[in-house]
Order: sequence, then structure tokens, then C-alpha cells
Amino acid sequence: MSIAYPNTQLFIDGAWCAAASGRTLPVMNPATGKQIGTLAHAEKPDLDRALAAAAKGFDIWRRISAFERYKMMRKAANLVRDRVDMMATLMTMEQGKTVAEAKAEILNGADTIDWFAEEARRAYGRVIPARAEGVYQLVIKEPVGPVAAFTPWNFPINQIVRKLSAALAAGCSIIIKAPEETPASPAELIRAFADAGVPAGVVNLVYGVPAEISSYLIPHPVIRKISFTGSTVVGKQLAAMAGAHMKRMTMELGGHAPVIVFDDADIDVAAKTMVGSKFRNAGQVCVSPTRFLVQEGVYNKFVDKFVEATKALKVGNGLEPSSTMGSLANPRRSSAMEMSVEDAAKHGGKIRTGGHRIGKEGNFFEPTVITEVANDAHAMNNEPFGPMAMINPFKTFDDAVKEAN
Ligand code: NAD
Repeated sequence: MSIAYPNTQLFIDGAWCAAASGRTLPVMNPATGKQIGTLAHAEKPDLDRALAAAAKGFDIWRRISAFERYKMMRKAANLVRDRVDMMATLMTMEQGKTVAEAKAEILNGADTIDWFAEEARRAYGRVIPARAEGVYQLVIKEPVGPVAAFTPWNFPINQIVRKLSAALAAGCSIIIKAPEETPASPAELIRAFADAGVPAGVVNLVYGVPAEISSYLIPHPVIRKISFTGSTVVGKQLAAMAGAHMKRMTMELGGHAPVIVFDDADIDVAAKTMVGSKFRNAGQVCVSPTRFLVQEGVYNKFVDKFVEATKALKVGNGLEPSSTMGSLANPRRSSAMEMSVEDAAKHGGKIRTGGHRIGKEGNFFEPTVITEVANDAHAMNNEPFGPMAMINPFKTFDDAVKEAN
């Protein structure tokens, strides 16, 4: 599908709007390195409006029955399904992943909305046996209040869907600070909820300078709950801020996901499945395998098969149906990959394939496989968050467990 990339606005109190200051930020296509649009840049006056809207929205939404909330959420999920082709194209243009991956993310997102909508109808309370006669002890679930949610660029829709759907199902309103680098597909997600009849003020969408927005929203008395997905460094700062104001906080940060392959595994299946898992979204996934530990008896066979399947990946613009891996999402990731590969090589790593940027246009990086990297290499202790697989051999089960921890 070919579509014009839009300029993205803020969504506050049920209306799409420019920032009060009129400020915008550029949006780049990571596959070409060229600007494709702009997004509105929220500052304090816009955040004040969003806060007032979220307070009003909460008052309305909490009184709407779980059954009515469920119906609107299911309608939003179906609108997302109807619009998947358009939304996936936007996501690929701003994020770089292939259209097939973008579609899968969006359709999964629709299923997640349905799941939370269903859960809303089953938010049962409890009756607790009392110690004294004539006393009834009940637990009743109440929505906590307006939520501030901060989401990253690797899954522009799904990172929002999980926070937004849970909040709406529970009866909370929300202000979402969506990723500045990938703003248009999230805006379409929010449009689906508005079109499904969710009242003004219940869902609000802003973009801007992340640290300015979080340091204003988190301490603000209207906000009762914070949810963040991103790096551990930033997560620690936001958790400290939430703690200082005694606010509830949920965080999803960097991952640690070693894969262990034993001698008796089916190596064809293991290599094929793991290449798919490692290079999905060009490795920019919090649950992406961080490193592979393979038992000695099948080590060479696994490495050969893994390298062969890696070489078969076709890296290219995600809009091209022939591409099986798109560009990295931003130039920071290409630099981080170069650093990690260089450091792994310095720590004894043997580069079996890849290791370099591709071309001068956009953020393309070769799917990379490195073996026998020493344990103190940077990427062995930090998720590589990009298309870089590290494979090491092990002897016994105990060795594997020790290495994996
Ligand atoms: P980063 O730490 O600058 O930002 C990570 C995310 O947090 C971005 O979406 C950013 O907008 C947001 N952010 C940054 N500072 C913030 C603040 N003060 N308040 C609110 N939000 C803030 O790093 P990056 O270069 O975007 O990503 C690098 C690392 O982040 C990756 O290596 C990975 O470890 C982690 N990351 C994890 C996930 C995940 O799914 N868990 C997603 C994206 C990034």
C-alpha cells in the first residue's frame, strides 16, 4: 500500500491539535535517512490541558460500566483490524521493520485490546471470612486514577496497547507520551479508540522532550499511576521520581534472554527458530535472545546452520515485500552495533558473518553472528538490542546454567 506520511498532532480532550507554541519536531524514515513528516511538540501549557482532560475523563470513564467499556474496546480492536494495511505502512515508514512484521504487531495489538476488554468484565472482588460475627469484609477493585504512560520506538503500537488497554479496562484515563521517532502509527491507534466512542479526555496523546514531560507529569497530583517501557537507566530515574511522590509504577526495561541448546536438540529446528527470533525487528526486542550457549556435541553443526540461515536473510527497505529484515530504527542503534561488534572482536570473538553497516543511506546493518566471545565483553553483559548474535560452546548442564546467569 502506498500512502502519504502525515504530520502528527497531539490528541487532547478528544481533539487533534497543534502544540500551543506551534513547535514541531521532524520525523525521519530510518530506511532513507530523509525527513518524512513532523510531529507536534508538547510543552507545559499542552500538558496542563492534557492533565485537566485526564482528570475529567477519569470522572466520566470510571462511572461507565465494565460491560460498556468492553463494547467500546472491542469496537476499537475491530477498527484497528480494518485499518491494519494503512497502519502497518505508516509504521514501516517511521520505524523500519518490514510491513509483514508491522502487520503482525498490529493484529496482535488488536487481540490484546480484546483480551483486556474481556478481563474488564471479570474484575471480580473477594469476600474475606471475618473474625467477628456481623462483619463483612469485601475487596472491591477500583480504578486507581489517571495514568501517565511512556512508551518506546521498537514496537510503536504494541508498547502502547498493553498499557492503554489495561488502563481503560480498569476504568482509568490515560496520558500517553508516545515515541517521537515513530509517532504516526500510535496516533492511528488512538484514533481507533476515539472512533469507537471512548469519551473525550479518557485517552490523551502527547509527544515532546521525554525528560521534560516525565518530570512534569510524574509528580503532578492528577497522575496516580506511572507505566514505562525503555532502558534500565531511564527506568531507575523515573522509579525514583515516582517513589518520591509515593506513586504506583510499572516498568519493563532491558531484557536478559540466554538460549541454551543441548546435544539432543533438533538442530535444524533450533537454528531456524532462533534466527527468526534473534533478527525479528532487527534484534530490537527486549525479549530477543541475548546470547546462545550450545553443547559441544552439536556446537559446530548449530553454528553452521545458524550462519547459513542468517546469510539467507534479505535486508532492505521494509516496504519492499522481498525484505525479511528492515533497517534499524535510528542512527543510535547503528553506532551501538558498531561499538558492540568491535568490542566483541577485541574480546576474542570470531565474526562468522556480518559486522558492518550496509550502504550510506538509512540505518541498515548486516545480520551478524560472532562466536567464542569472552564473558567480559560489553555485549555479553548488556543486551545487544540489534542484529548481533553471540554463540559460545558449553560442556555440561551445570556449565550452561552458570554461563546463562
Ligand atoms: P533511551 O534510554 O534514551 O530511551 C529509551 C526510551 O525511553 C525512549 O522511548 C525514550 O523516549 C524514553 N525516555 C528517555 N528518557 C526519558 C525520560 N527522562 N522520561 C521518559 N521517557 C524517557 O535509549 P534509546 O537509545 O531510545 O534505547 C536504548 C536502550 O533502551 C536499548 O538498548 C534497550 O536496552 C532499551 N529499550 C528497551 C525497550 C524495551 O522494549 N524494553 C525498548 C526500547 C529501548
